[in-house]
Amino acid sequence: MMVYRYPFNGSNGQLISLRPRRDPGTMIAGISELAIVPCPEHRFDFGGVKDSMVNVPILAYHKVSQRFEWGINTVSPRSFQLQMQFLVNHHFYTISLEQYLEGIVERTATRRPIIITFDDADESVLFNAFPVMQAVGFRATLFIVSGYVGEYNLWDANLGGIYSRHLSWDQIERLVQAGWELGSHTVTHRDLRTLSDREMESELRASRDMIQAKLNKDVQFLSYPFNRFDRRVIAGAQQAGYRGGCGLWVSRRYIHLPWQFRLPRSGVYSIDGLAGFKRKLTASRTELLKQRIISMASQGTIWYKRLHR
Ligand SMILES: [Zn+2]
Repeated sequence: MMVYRYPFNGSNGQLISLRPRRDPGTMIAGISELAIVPCPEHRFDFGGVKDSMVNVPILAYHKVSQRFEWGINTVSPRSFQLQMQFLVNHHFYTISLEQYLEGIVERTATRRPIIITFDDADESVLFNAFPVMQAVGFRATLFIVSGYVGEYNLWDANLGGIYSRHLSWDQIERLVQAGWELGSHTVTHRDLRTLSDREMESELRASRDMIQAKLNKDVQFLSYPFNRFDRRVIAGAQQAGYRGGCGLWVSRRYIHLPWQFRLPRSGVYSIDGLAGFKRKLTASRTELLKQRIISMASQGTIWYKRLHR
């Protein structure tokens, strides 16, 4: 059995040396059959979209940190490293949502596209995920809560008084320099479905305008807070000038809505082992069900915030 061991020194910003790519067949039993694949939903929910366009897995991370936290949104730095190493070993390369929408996707046996996204722009992304991704030449898409840049995550249900900080504009600039794509996660991370038309428009436009003004970088994509959206939210996002929107688990109910605005992602959580991670890259019904349950559970955070306002 192969033992994975990596030097970890991400928090001081140094590059991390990962192992070079090996023959996939020698890595993990059974993994050589790993087909490139599609985010699970795409397999069941074509929505009239051509396969070749959408069969790219989209991963959604939140925090990458050693810190204890209630909930499952924090992946440990070590797990993150193993996951990135896994992708490298299996010939994945990252593309942006923009490339994806434009169909700029090269796919061969040794070139497998994947999109990696981070919701909330937590500080730990720069400290613990960025160095690993730099070391293997990966880029990601960062979804920013524009009203909380550089601030603590007061919008979240901070159980036990555990807060974390969001990246500052200067810190985000470093990611931009490295070629990361920026997206909006609204201004205050509220459930868009519950807002009036005016409030929703302001959340969508002000956030994008602020990010564009601060970083001089185009913002074309949106990640729906708490993965909550409906027909009205999608229409609002289109009117506000977005090109697409990301959810997590996406209901079949929305199959008739524009596919660019209901891009399903596979969230990566602290409870996922490497086997679970591997399943997220395949059309796994288990992962789809898991994602559905986790997405439903995020309603708890919405209620908690309503009660504690
Ligand atoms: Zn979020």
